Formats: sequence, C-alpha cells, structure tokens
Amino acid sequence: MKIYFTPGPSKLYPTIQGHIQEALKEDIGSLSHRSKVFEDLYQNIEKHLKLLLNIPKNYSIFFLSSATEGIERVIQNCVGKNSFHLVSGEFGDRFFQISGELGKKPEKQLVDINSEKTTELKISKEAELICFTHNETSNGSSLPLEYIYQTKKHYPDKLIAVDIVSSVPVVDLDFTMTDCVFFSVQKGFGLPAGLGALIISPRVLDKACSLEPKISTGSFHSFRSLKKYADKNQTPETPNVLLIYLFSKVLEDMLEIGISEIRKEAKKKAGLLYSFFDRHPSFQPYIANHKFRSQTVVTVNTDGIPLLERLRGEGLIVGGGYGKSKETQIRIANFPAHTIEDINKLLVAVKSFS
Ligand SMILES: *Cc1c(COP(=O)(O)O)cnc(C)c1O
Repeated sequence: MKIYFTPGPSKLYPTIQGHIQEALKEDIGSLSHRSKVFEDLYQNIEKHLKLLLNIPKNYSIFFLSSATEGIERVIQNCVGKNSFHLVSGEFGDRFFQISGELGKKPEKQLVDINSEKTTELKISKEAELICFTHNETSNGSSLPLEYIYQTKKHYPDKLIAVDIVSSVPVVDLDFTMTDCVFFSVQKGFGLPAGLGALIISPRVLDKACSLEPKISTGSFHSFRSLKKYADKNQTPETPNVLLIYLFSKVLEDMLEIGISEIRKEAKKKAGLLYSFFDRHPSFQPYIANHKFRSQTVVTVNTDGIPLLERLRGEGLIVGGGYGKSKETQIRIANFPAHTIEDINKLLVAVKSFS
C-alpha cells in the first residue's frame, strides 16, 4: 500500500472508501441537483462547515469546481479596477496574474519570509480587494494571521480575500476579519479533486451587485447567480454531487473527532517533521524562519540526493519541489488524513537512506 504525502491530491481521508461504497448503494450518482435530498445535503454541509471552521451565520457558502475558479470569481465579483496582492510564493503570484488576465490593474508586494520583522504593507488608496494566500503550497511557507488581521484593522473599508487551500481545516482563521475565503477539497479534507468551496461575507454581495451594471461579473457563477441558488440550497449548474456527498460525510467525521483535536494532532506531526529535519545532516527544512513555517506543507532541501525516488521505492509518495525547485526540494503534506504512524514511517525511511 502506497502512502501519498503529496500536497494535493494527497492521501484520502481514511473513511472515504466506506463512504464511496455507501454512495453507490444510495444511488448518489443518479441524484438530481434539484431534488430535496440534494438540498438537504447542501444545507448539511453549510451547517457543518460553519460549525467546524467557526464561520459567522450570515456568511454564504458556494460550491465551485476548484480553488483556481475561486480566484477568478473573487476577482470578477469584487474588483472594478484595482486589486492588491501580498505574495510569498507561486500561488499568491497566480492570484496576482489572474487579476491582470481579467483586465484589472493588480499591484503586488512580496513578503520577506526570511525576516523576523513584519513586512509593512503599502496598499494604494485605489485597491478594492486585498488578496492573501495563507499557506504557500509552492514553498512550504505560511503567512502569520496577524498580517490579515492588521490589514483588516488598517483598511476596514476594503474587501479581504484569503486562499486557505492547503491550510484548511488546520488554520484557525477568524472569518469575521475576512470577506472571501476559498479552498478546494483535495488537500486538507482528503477528498478526490474536483470541488471548491467559497465563503463570502454579506458585504461582498453588495460589491458584486454594484459592479454588475458596469462590468461582467461572470454568468452562471457570478456571485448573484450563486447566491440566488444557494438560497434554495442548490447550485446553478449540475455539480459534482458525489463529491459533495463525500464532503458532507468527511465533515461529519471531522466534527466527531473535534476540530481542536485535529489541530492539536497536526501541530504534533509538524513538530515531528521539523525537529527531525532540523537535526538531519543533509536534508534541511527550506523555511528556516520559524514564524513562517507551514504546519501542513513541509518543504525540505534534498542536497542533490534523489530522496523522492528512494522514498517512492518504499511506497512513500512525496511531492517534488515546485517549479524551478523540482529537483532540489521535496514537499511533504501533513494533512488530517496523515496519521502519526504515517509520519513515523516516512521519517524511518528517510533515516535509512542517510
Ligand atoms: C492547490 C492550490 C490552489 C489550486 O487549487 P485547485 O483546486 O487546483 O484549483 C490554489 N492555491 C493554493 C495555495 C493551493 O495549494
């Protein structure tokens, strides 16, 4: 049996197999997205996701096809002209680029992840939306949440978007300090890929409606259209009902364990990984600054040793470095699906190669 430590898609949540079998038995694949059963599913997810992540009651939850779609929809519905992007890696930069591709005028500022000092944000008066990528899956860095909260305090009138794709549900985010938060399910929720979720504050809808007479905010997945259907616990199009069903089941499983237990365990596993690699003679964590170390994606310099291939030989599938770091780094996902035993197995194997 292989164990996937890739940072998405990754190891499936342990209960998935049983839930898929149950879904087949219950004909979920044939279920209409206009049926009462589907509406109940939608409502169930909304209730449980809000409970799990402590999302305010008056925020709306929409289903999308991916997190990348989340980026595009957020720009289309919140930005007339100007967006601001705090960038600490490739995914934050993608957010910035997509804004430009949609004809907006994005500005970006890089965060110095090696500095102990908090980077002071220089956000122009014109910026309508401030975009953060909480966990940079590309390099294993994580933005301290203070960046988001301080920005909200300094710029209460601007909208705030946060990508939590690879840190949810481990990150304990205060949603009241945010307006658009999105993720896809193939990372921290341990599901197959192909479903995204977007959580928005009520004032986002006002902004989207104020833009609509002037510019296109999209068609079937404009926020107005998504909200119209969400109010009926439906989606505008035929969605991936099977994945939505599996998502609802995993949310129930996680609530049963309890979010504080899940977060405690994530911290413990991250501690095992970092303390091992901090003491390793050849393989060092890429992020030296503890303030920026991700709990959920650990990036390690491989010093020219083909560690990824050797681990693969043992059935342990880790991610390669991202982009130009493909050959020089590995990335290890530490998601709720990964057990302490999985992590220990990986570390024992790494040890045996050195
Ligand atoms: C994986 C990832 C995305 C893209 O997610 P998709 O579901 O592939 O669209 C965006 N942002 C971050 C931080 C990611 O890790």
